[in-house]
Amino acid sequence: MKMIDVKNLTFQYQRKGKLVLDKLNFACEKGTVNVLIGLNGSGKTTLIKTIAGLLENYQGEVYIDGKSLKELSIKQRAKIMAYVSQRSNAVDDFSVMDYLLFGTVNKMNFYQSPKEDDKNKVLDCANQFRIEHLLDKKLGEISGGERQIVSICGAIVQDADLIILDEPTSALDIKNQHSVLSIIKIIAKEQGKTFILSSHNPNHALYLDSNVFLLKNGSILAQGRAEDIINVETLKSVYGEDICYSTELAYREISFSDYENK
Ligand code: ADP
Repeated sequence: MKMIDVKNLTFQYQRKGKLVLDKLNFACEKGTVNVLIGLNGSGKTTLIKTIAGLLENYQGEVYIDGKSLKELSIKQRAKIMAYVSQRSNAVDDFSVMDYLLFGTVNKMNFYQSPKEDDKNKVLDCANQFRIEHLLDKKLGEISGGERQIVSICGAIVQDADLIILDEPTSALDIKNQHSVLSIIKIIAKEQGKTFILSSHNPNHALYLDSNVFLLKNGSILAQGRAEDIINVETLKSVYGEDICYSTELAYREISFSDYENK
């Protein structure tokens, strides 16, 4: 079953401007992790924003869980998908707890307020992301990286089937990058959620054992399983001839062992 189905998707910011997405065709099956890889300016954020319903003047079709994106109301979208942009624009004065509780509102009627169950769900998610110590702080009082983790945690609290993350590790130190990626991997496996995310690190796609879409100038140059796509030969077409395997380096790369094995 397809969670995302994109047909002939074309987008340009200005009429008669350059095509930022050029007749894209691809699908993401339910319960899969999908990573967009490509140089700066290749169209990753634009594609993510289009799928999240934030850019409307596109040509072609985007189907989310079998329904045309154009026909989904904002409320229906909030139930089906959660989106985290590169920079959170949430108000600094909100406490982390209140911000995370907003994630539960998509399942309520407008006269309802969060219940004990909702608070427990927030606590569970905060625990999983190891941010319990931030819950009483205001968003304006935490670091950029902590704020990014809080935003991703908020998307998980929303309990949507599709989770869309624009560069979810961009502000994170290597330990937190690994921790967020391992949580994504676990949630996809255990809860059957579908993820689509962009990353600047091809190794993230390998770690996530994901599907990969390699973008160049608004087109998909290659797509498939990370183990088939993330190799020096394929990546050269985007990153150039200098890209190499770490075994060819003069130093040992630092990494983390698998979270699940601990
Ligand atoms: P990526 O996320 O891969 O870095 P983007 O989707 O942000 O790429 O950008 C793709 C292209 O669209 C780039 O050439 C960029 O300059 C252009 N672009 C992005 N946002 C806008 C905008 N709001 N208005 C005009 N052009 C934009």
